[in-house]
Amino acid sequence: MRPTGRLHLGHYTGALENWIEQQNLLQPDGSRAYETCFLIADYHNLTTSLDTGSIYENTIDMLVDWLAAGVDPEKSPVFRQSQVKEHAELFLIFAMLITTARLERNPTLKEQVRDLNMDSLVYGHLGYPVLQAADILLYKGNVVPVGEDQIPHVEITREIARKFNSQYQHPVIGDVFPEPAPKITKFSRLVGLDGKAKMSKSLGNTILLSDTPEETWAKMRNAVTDTQKVRRNDPGRPEVCLVYSYHQKFSKPEELSSIEQGCRSGALGCVDCKKMCAANISGELAPMLEKRRYYEARPDLVRQILHDGETKARRIAQATMTEVRQAMHLGEPAA
Ligand code: AMP
Repeated sequence: MRPTGRLHLGHYTGALENWIEQQNLLQPDGSRAYETCFLIADYHNLTTSLDTGSIYENTIDMLVDWLAAGVDPEKSPVFRQSQVKEHAELFLIFAMLITTARLERNPTLKEQVRDLNMDSLVYGHLGYPVLQAADILLYKGNVVPVGEDQIPHVEITREIARKFNSQYQHPVIGDVFPEPAPKITKFSRLVGLDGKAKMSKSLGNTILLSDTPEETWAKMRNAVTDTQKVRRNDPGRPEVCLVYSYHQKFSKPEELSSIEQGCRSGALGCVDCKKMCAANISGELAPMLEKRRYYEARPDLVRQILHDGETKARRIAQATMTEVRQAMHLGEPAA
């Protein structure tokens, strides 16, 4: 995740919640199903903004949200791309294994260029998925939890892994890299409070994970609902209503049918419906707010967690790069 500061509900439903589920998933014998690594992609920020003035504060703000939501640094190292040099090194090698034509065909890039009205592209932005391939493969990731928009990037990662393995074989282990599979998140596109676009900080249509119940309600009051339901008793259409889509995510399954019926019959007004929705969202965020306060009061602990994560990540990354160099006959031959 790029360090863009405090996170919103879209980050939670589209990524974080899934990460934490994978982190905590156990096998029948009680062992962990996955080893998880969570990357703060600070170099990736440069593809769309050169302003790094607030990057440290944004990193810490995001990390506190991760910890508050349940990322457990004992289980999952958390680390910044810029602090593990091997990301840049593997990126350089991978950049030789893919053509510019292939990168220009990347549909996610085309969408970004269109959405951000970019009239030109920096070289590093074209190579974004190549850096991402290095981010994944340095840790020999088998499974990458992503939103739908990232599937093309995991495909590029798979192609690069295949290309490397077919070109270079390690004398002992053979293939250096696995071919990672994407694991698609269930809620990979949470619409923002304006009802128009994906929830996103730049559009100002967010509820933050750190919003208090009062702040959440103040934002929810102005959320767009079914435009055909004007007065309280007008029948509504939950299937087109943004607030109902939030209920589907944040309210209990047993509440949903009465909300749906109340909306359709007109018995449930939008204000009451929004109050319930805001309360349920705040209910889910309450334990995170408490944990956030804990970490906010302990900045040294947060810094230590990051440094420890970076030490662990470096160890893994260096071991992979040793194998890469041996497979490529760069430096000393393998013993
Ligand atoms: P970004 O801040 O764009 O790097 O996003 C970090 C992660 O959060 C990515 O996996 C995104 O797919 C996910 N994400 C961001 N906004 C949303 C949203 N509105 N709905 C679902 N997922 C989102």
